[in-house]
Formats: sequence, C-alpha cells, structure tokens
Amino acid sequence: MPQTHYKVIIIGSGPAGLTAAIYAARADLAPLVFEGEQPGGQLTITTEVENFPGFPTGILGPELMNNLREQAQRFGSTIRSLRVIGVDFSGPPHKVVTDRGEFTGDAVIIASGARALLLGVESETRMMGHGVSACATCDGFFFRGKKIAVVGGGDSAMEEGTFLTKFADKVTIIHRRDQFRASKIMQKKAKENPKIEFLLNTTVTEVVGSPDTGVRALRIKNTADGSEREIPFEGLFLAIGHVPNTGFLNGKVKLDEKGYVITHDGTKTSVEGVFACGDVQDHVYRQAVTAAGSGCMAAIDAERYLESRGH
Ligand code: NAP
Repeated sequence: MPQTHYKVIIIGSGPAGLTAAIYAARADLAPLVFEGEQPGGQLTITTEVENFPGFPTGILGPELMNNLREQAQRFGSTIRSLRVIGVDFSGPPHKVVTDRGEFTGDAVIIASGARALLLGVESETRMMGHGVSACATCDGFFFRGKKIAVVGGGDSAMEEGTFLTKFADKVTIIHRRDQFRASKIMQKKAKENPKIEFLLNTTVTEVVGSPDTGVRALRIKNTADGSEREIPFEGLFLAIGHVPNTGFLNGKVKLDEKGYVITHDGTKTSVEGVFACGDVQDHVYRQAVTAAGSGCMAAIDAERYLESRGH
C-alpha cells in the first residue's frame, strides 16, 4: 500500500513550501510536498533573480527553485506532482484531498501562494519573463534606460510606476478608466514624477514582440471611442492586483476579506496543527526571501506543535 499518512504535509512548492520542506525534513519529519499546478511557484515565470541573498551575480528563477527542490529532497522530503482540491481540517490528523487520492497529516503547512492577475490577452502569457512582468521589485532592474508601460490604476500601479523610474527612462501608466483607485498621496507622487505619463481610458489588447526580440510595442484600445493603435514600448508591467490561492480551503481556515489566510503567533492559522507561510498569508512583502523566511518559521512551528502532542 502506498503511504498516505505523513507527519507533515506541505501544500505548495514555491520558496515558502520548499523552505518549510527543507526545515521539516532536517527535523526528521519526512514531509510530503504537493507541488500543485505551478511547480516552483511564481519564480518559475521570472528570469533572473538578483535580490535573493547569497547569489552575488544573480540566479535564474527556475534554477533557484530547482536548487531548493533538490535541497528539500536531499534531506528526505517527498515531492508529488498532485493538485490539492480540498481539505478536511476536523482532525488531527488533517485530511488533504488531491486530484488523485486522499492523504492525512499530523500537521499541515499551507504554502499555496498567490498569483498575479493577468489581463487575459494571449501574447502576455507568451511574453511573461521576456519583457512582461508582474513584479517591479524583481524585474525593474532589467529595464534600465528603457521605455516601459505599467497597467493598473491602484496603489500598486502608482508605487511600481514610481519605483520603475529609478531604471526606466520613461514610464507610462495605462489605466482602463479616467479615475484612479489609488490613494491620493500615491497618485500625487506619481503625477509629480517627470518620468511618468498617463494613458487613461485605455486597455492593452496585444503585446507585440517575441521571446527572442522582447517587447517591441503594445497594441492599445481607447475605451471611450473604441479606436486602436500601436505604441512602441520595451516592457510591460502588470499591476492589476493579486489573488491568493485559497479556493481549495473552502472556508476551513479563517481568511481575511481579500481571501488571504490569517496567521497569528508566527504562522499559526485558526485551526490547530495547520500553519501558513509565504504569499498565501502575506499581501504586503511578497518577496521570495520573505516567503522562504516564513516557510522556515512554519516548519519550526509545526515541529514544536508535533512535539507538544508527543509525536
Ligand atoms: P487594486 O487596488 O485592486 O487595483 C487594481 C487596479 O487594476 C485597478 O485600478 C483596476 O481598475 C485595474 N484592473 C483590474 N483588472 C484589470 C484588467 N483586467 N484590465 C485593466 N485594468 C485592470 O490592486 P493593487 O493596486 O494591487 O492594490 C491591492 C491592495 O494593496 C490595495 O488595498 C492597495 O491599497 C494595497 N497597496 C498598498 C500599497 C501602499 O500603500 N504602499 C502599495 C500597493 C498596494 P479599476 O480601478 O477600473 O477597477
């Protein structure tokens, strides 16, 4: 009979989940990690990662995630390419339901992350990591001296647009309405920045370019009169919001009003024996290194919990 019970089950395989796995495995807890739909998480859709400590010349996102995966396996983590579709936290043990069977864990760590909202145009997915990005802090550096666009009208668009002027020659904030959702103070800062200009009542309908050439232009549509045109740009940043991957939890742990898992006293959730780390519980920092840090915390919290229960 294949093993279906584990001391620790980790849902998610981004920096948070895999760091939790490294720590849990080194504590002799032989964790089971469910990789989910996007093995390696959001870093696998970025190219160079230059802000993860310890890599003075940078590292490719997919390579960093492969390293973390190998490191987790080296200490005895089992990684399975299954997608979690439901949970039953009435235990312990707690039940995790996947698309191919049910598993139980004495402790569960939720590290299912968040995903950036996309515009929904085909070319944006094809060009992700090749001039299209959903993370200014991660990728801004690569756009030194370039002319780029940021889509969105909220605080993220204003903040990322302002941040990107450190590198880019010109930043155009493209927003679908003529009113911004962003706070007045963030709007003011962006409007006062001489490197920022605005294109209002405008949506992006196509990213022109190829993974080889990078972004060459954006095809845009005026929402007021329906007219379309192409404008040369060398990069596109999406800042239209994020959503946490918490649908499969189906109300079994407390979420905040935006759907993020609420944690307290480190990484504890509203359910005993269930912990959460990384972007699924953090909409403020959202960095690989903060996710990894909270993954380490979750493993230590889970280990202490299991110890207190005599495991
Ligand atoms: P947000 O407030 O939800 O704003 C998303 C923006 O993207 C909106 O302007 C929205 O347009 C636009 N948008 C959504 N879907 C779109 C689509 N398919 N096509 C084109 N545009 C689309 O998200 P956010 O800016 O990421 O902020 C999230 C939360 O974090 C907010 O509470 C924000 O205050 C907070 N935050 C705070 C700071 C800070 O204080 N330093 C920085 C960043 C974020 P509409 O306006 O037309 O809906």
